[in-house]
Amino acid sequence: MLDLLGLSCEKKMFIRLFLQPMMILVAACLVLFLGEIFYERTSQSVIGQQIAYCFSLLSVPLMILGLISTSYSIYRWWKFINAEDTNSCHAYGGIVSEKHGKYGIYYKCLACSATHSFDR
Ligand SMILES: [Zn+2]
Repeated sequence: MLDLLGLSCEKKMFIRLFLQPMMILVAACLVLFLGEIFYERTSQSVIGQQIAYCFSLLSVPLMILGLISTSYSIYRWWKFINAEDTNSCHAYGGIVSEKHGKYGIYYKCLACSATHSFDR
């Protein structure tokens, strides 16, 4: 889908790298927001308060997961900038993500979408 926007390879790689952690963080904020709405709407009942409390509890692990995921993406981007990534795309030199396919593990480039298999 990103190919339709006519973005450069580096921008596409950046978006693909940070899309998942950003979605987790947005989901965490959404759950927290839903809990807040639920809390305001059900202020009369005890069960409603408990459900609202569960919503806010659920947002904490999501937030932590999002922050860990963001940190990992920043680390991978840093490795790419400093050219320390041992596995990179042959065509563009971009960051590759590990995938499990029918014939075992393969790597997909986040920049140009080419797939590779590295023999170790
Ligand atoms: Zn590539």
